[in-house]
Amino acid sequence: MNEKRKRIIVHVDMDAFYSSIEQMDRAEYRNRPVVVGADPRGGRGRGVVSAASYEARKYGIHSAMPISQAYRLCPEAVYVRPRMRRYESVSKHIMKILEQFSPLVEQISIDEAFLDCTGTEALTGPENILAMSIKERIRQETTLTASVGVASNKSIAKIASELCKPDGLLVCPSGEEGKFIENLSLKCLWGAGEKTVKSLNSLGYTTIGDVAKSSRAVLEKIFGKHGLKLWRLANGIDERPVKKEGSRKSIGEEITFSRDVESDSYIEHVLFRISDRLTRKMRILGLKGRTVSIKIRLQGFETFTRSRTLDFPVNDMKTIRSMSLELFRHFDRNDKKVRLVGISVSNFGVKPAHINEQFELFRGDRIENSMNEEKIAGQRGTDPDALLDKMKKLYGEKVTRAAFLPNLYEKERGWGGD
Ligand SMILES: [Mg+2]
Repeated sequence: MNEKRKRIIVHVDMDAFYSSIEQMDRAEYRNRPVVVGADPRGGRGRGVVSAASYEARKYGIHSAMPISQAYRLCPEAVYVRPRMRRYESVSKHIMKILEQFSPLVEQISIDEAFLDCTGTEALTGPENILAMSIKERIRQETTLTASVGVASNKSIAKIASELCKPDGLLVCPSGEEGKFIENLSLKCLWGAGEKTVKSLNSLGYTTIGDVAKSSRAVLEKIFGKHGLKLWRLANGIDERPVKKEGSRKSIGEEITFSRDVESDSYIEHVLFRISDRLTRKMRILGLKGRTVSIKIRLQGFETFTRSRTLDFPVNDMKTIRSMSLELFRHFDRNDKKVRLVGISVSNFGVKPAHINEQFELFRGDRIENSMNEEKIAGQRGTDPDALLDKMKKLYGEKVTRAAFLPNLYEKERGWGGD
């Protein structure tokens, strides 16, 4: 691994995330012990602590502790029920901030993520400056504090952020990974579970260094394949990449007809509706993709996909609709009836700065003229998707495009449906 380029891996971990959000939202909770979790009911409540503020931790309260026990330790604490939607929205905001520091962000829990910042030194400066900028941005935008660990690999970066909590910053110099962790208790080794630590302890190993110095053969004998992994981790070796895993690779919508459909114009109308729903979902999730695919299942279950890739990512209805229609019109179904149609978008990309100009250029391309949505917007240049999203927000999901209103659609097209 020596010839490999040295990586810069950053682990960001929010401090006492849920309780810090409660303290941010409610000024009267600040500087007080706050326990997020089950209802304590005067010490007789069931359930556990989800999170405890640092003030509450001074009383010995920690997460996963029975709420009744927490109450006995500190009855005067503020007890609040978790507001997951609020925490998730703050989490999303933080991940957006992190994405500004690297395109490679792997979120591993609601309040934790790895960033691979290899190669960004020219922009961000040395590791400690990078870590400081990340902390500062999070603090400025959310008022919350994060602890940040930086190292040449994931496990050391994770250990570093844990060691410097709360509101800390710790960089492990490259080449010193083993030394960095040798005196730590085995509990700190990321990847060693409670059971593993117990059996290692029973073998006489107490620190990470003890395992690092032990024989690989012995560890492999006792723990199998896991033994070699433990030995490597104990020596500060971890080559796992930062992956955008968990994040979706494509997003799609499809419709199976109640009976097989013949009419092209009906299928095209369905593709219109699917484009509308799909792109709305994409805008809510903040996704844009370059590849648009259609899926067509014919009578008899043969299934086909056709796709086209653009130079830039999109999520607007008109573009995705016109691309799907084009793909559909080029597909020869041999007069067979259609059982299912779907659209999916993949190849999610980073949005280039000049996206808007290209987007405008593409807009004129083969767009079926059904409704002049710009006119509805009442203003030239108003983004119709943004307008629709705004209307839905104001008046609810029942707000729809005029083309989807049943009477208009029947009158204009002369269809009674299929
Ligand atoms: Mg945390």
